[in-house]
Amino acid sequence: MHPTRFALVALALIDLLAFTLTGCSASTTMTAASDNPVPKDALDCAPGELSACGLPSNVVIDMSKVSVRRTEAEWRARLTPEQYRVAREQGTEPPFRGAYWNHHDDGVYFCVGCDTPLFDSAEKFDSGTGWPSFYRPIERAFVATQKDFSHGMVREEVHCAVCGSHLGHVFDDVPHKKGRRYCINSASLRFMPRAEYAAWLEKRALDELSP
Ligand SMILES: [Zn+2]
Repeated sequence: MHPTRFALVALALIDLLAFTLTGCSASTTMTAASDNPVPKDALDCAPGELSACGLPSNVVIDMSKVSVRRTEAEWRARLTPEQYRVAREQGTEPPFRGAYWNHHDDGVYFCVGCDTPLFDSAEKFDSGTGWPSFYRPIERAFVATQKDFSHGMVREEVHCAVCGSHLGHVFDDVPHKKGRRYCINSASLRFMPRAEYAAWLEKRALDELSP
């Protein structure tokens, strides 16, 4: 085969494979959706398959409950296009590509939309899914969840309770009841090293004391 033609065929195969992977959990679960609309868990997926958290969300987040609100222009100015797509349009970043799926530094992950500390690295674990995964948030009140019925599945969408930014989904498939699996997009997070976080907390305490 001519090298150029070989390259084109290879690219087409990669596209086909990508389509197949994207549809993995959807097609599997949609078949059973009418009887048992349960998403396919990441731990049940074969290597390379996308788990239920690989599909974007489609919930209507009640913005009347959030305290940080911005205009569309302000959101666009604050976030990169990828952060905006994920956090404000309930998108999903590709697995094994985000900034934090394989990030092991000690510190805290903040909401990219409002600088609320959401997850601690001490609660981070390798779920094998390609997305940052945490057993629990720093404060339960900082994250909110909502049933997500998109893609023929029933999932639990997770968003920041302070600004309504979409974070990811949460699943109950962690062995030995160590916690839940908060499957979070890197694009919705901003990492702060532990020492910097300690200084941030100290400054906040001082700000609250000052008149
Ligand atoms: Zn937020």
